Amino acid sequence: MKRKFFYSVVVAASLLTTGCSTKDQSTTNNFDYTVEKFADLQILRYQVPGFDELSLKQKELIYYLTQAALEGRDILFDQNGKYNLRIRRMLEAIYTNYQGNRDNKEYKDLETYLKRVWFANGIHHHYGCEKFIPGFTPEYLKEVILSIDSKTLPLGEGQSVDEFCAEIFPVIFDPTVMPKRVNQADGEDVVLTSACNYYDGVTQDEVEEFYGKMKDANDKTPISYGLNSRLVKENGVVTEKVWKVGGLYSPAIEKVVYWLKKAEAVAENDKQKAVISSLIKYYETGDLRTFDEYAILWVKDTDSRIDFVNGFTESYGDPLGMKASWESLVNYKDLVATGRTETISNNAQWFEDNSPVDKQFKKEEVKGVTAKVITAAILAGDLYPATAIGINLPNANWIRADHGSKSVTIGNITDAYNKASHGNGFGEEFIYSDVERELIDKYGDVTGDLHTDLHECLGHGSGKLLPGVDPDALKAYGSTVEEARADLFGLYYMGDPKLVELGLLADANAYKAEYYNFLMNGLMTQLVRIEPGNNIEESHMRNRQLIARWVLEKGAADKAVELVNKDGKTYVVVNDYQKVRQLFGELLADIQRIKSTGDFEAARTLVENYAVKVDPTLHAEILERYKKLNLAPYKGFVNPTYELITDDNGNITDVVVAYNEGYAEQMLRYSKDYSSLPSVNN
Ligand code: ZN
Repeated sequence: MKRKFFYSVVVAASLLTTGCSTKDQSTTNNFDYTVEKFADLQILRYQVPGFDELSLKQKELIYYLTQAALEGRDILFDQNGKYNLRIRRMLEAIYTNYQGNRDNKEYKDLETYLKRVWFANGIHHHYGCEKFIPGFTPEYLKEVILSIDSKTLPLGEGQSVDEFCAEIFPVIFDPTVMPKRVNQADGEDVVLTSACNYYDGVTQDEVEEFYGKMKDANDKTPISYGLNSRLVKENGVVTEKVWKVGGLYSPAIEKVVYWLKKAEAVAENDKQKAVISSLIKYYETGDLRTFDEYAILWVKDTDSRIDFVNGFTESYGDPLGMKASWESLVNYKDLVATGRTETISNNAQWFEDNSPVDKQFKKEEVKGVTAKVITAAILAGDLYPATAIGINLPNANWIRADHGSKSVTIGNITDAYNKASHGNGFGEEFIYSDVERELIDKYGDVTGDLHTDLHECLGHGSGKLLPGVDPDALKAYGSTVEEARADLFGLYYMGDPKLVELGLLADANAYKAEYYNFLMNGLMTQLVRIEPGNNIEESHMRNRQLIARWVLEKGAADKAVELVNKDGKTYVVVNDYQKVRQLFGELLADIQRIKSTGDFEAARTLVENYAVKVDPTLHAEILERYKKLNLAPYKGFVNPTYELITDDNGNITDVVVAYNEGYAEQMLRYSKDYSSLPSVNN
């Protein structure tokens, strides 16, 4: 349902070096996580640890699923705007064939523009949705186009190069043509004013009327109306053009199905085979009831090591939130990290019994949640190159209520974000001294993951309301208090010897890395995401500042935590980590009391006093220091490559992973090998 993105601006550190000697060629030390930077984007690379330890059959399954994933790429380009495929192909023709000067500013700008189009799967920003402004002129583009062989251009049937330019140029250069991919502005016809390709020739009123008539308020198991089609008006009649074999996007969907059939034949077990079979049936029929059957089978398949998403999934790209963009993710369970969450869950009762919370607010019987941590093998469609780090599906509310949902964290992607942030200057700028930097370098990645696990697996599930207390009693302050409760539960236990005893932390110093990171983030560095003059609104950010400011104030007498000025810059200094832990415990006890008794006034006082307001002088200083680091605000990934190895008789003997492909190289290969849709008339 909700995608989780990588928000942390916290510095992170290298892996704890363990004595583990198992050789896994799918990971290498000294791996370079950074690929390149352009515009507001940074391209990273991720590893797939554990791949070489999978069985041959599992590797083969992953290989087929990655092929099925890559075949859908053109669909997303076309969904994002009807000129996108033509523009991409035109730019790729130039990039590959242009013989002129490639060193001048205009060519460089054109190259950057193409890289942005690849990244956004179209001509609009992947996050902000606004159309890119090219750094080159129409005259320059025309000159370059005329210099290359016109046979390499995506011309329409019988179209001359001049006619092609006349059709395409306004789409690229005219700021009034298709300015936004998704327009949500109140009071406008969001269907007519959005450049996405989910509707053609229909108004918002017509769309709403069309689907309004279909919906039945008494239907307890409604299909996801409109999910897999474009709504068009033909000869005055509003009608759906369904994305399926034999329908819209058929050439690409046929390829997806081809690879899914190969995957079906090597499925790990019957449950998984049934999942793949029903997905194929859905692609072949376009029937949304079949899609729901597929989603239910998928939710229930929890035993398979390998899992995947493949299809029309999230509807953020439709201003009306009905039509889903195509995406795919192939993954396998990270047994080590999932084992960590199991250890936590298995000890849930011990944690509940030993927390500093008043006994009357504790649960007599508590069950931990096991979060599944996965390793992504490929990112595709609307998850490529920019991706979420956590996914929760399916989206249909009745399926979630009746059959549950799967919630996963993508471990190797989080890891790549962490590793790539090494040496980006952030830690050097904001961490007080080498003592803290070394601590965070050594333990920061592990403690960050562990705190998240404690928050998710135990924090939210701990404690209870007193009888008769309204769960919504804290109203607008409820979610900040709830997040603070979960964070504090985790923070308190980070410093407990039990975690070392359970093998979750290496030694009794490790927790200090999380304490320092948490306080620095809550007191200072999370402010880089707030515009000058604004308050903090988002509940996770409020909760972090609440905890950090409260501990700073309550620990002031003992100087447990201080804000120190050194050479005109502000830093967090922690003098007494055990005192900090004690304060986390005290605040946890009070926050749990507030929650358990529904004490609205106390919630309001805490949140308004500590969580909302920003010190404008400190804020300005942090923004200024952050700006100088020149970090790209958005990141995306290139995928590894997978090669099928066969013997002389054509039998598959192995699947080999490599990480040597560059960004442009990968994009051009995908455009060559996985591009089956025509440039026009999709
Ligand atoms: Zn939470």
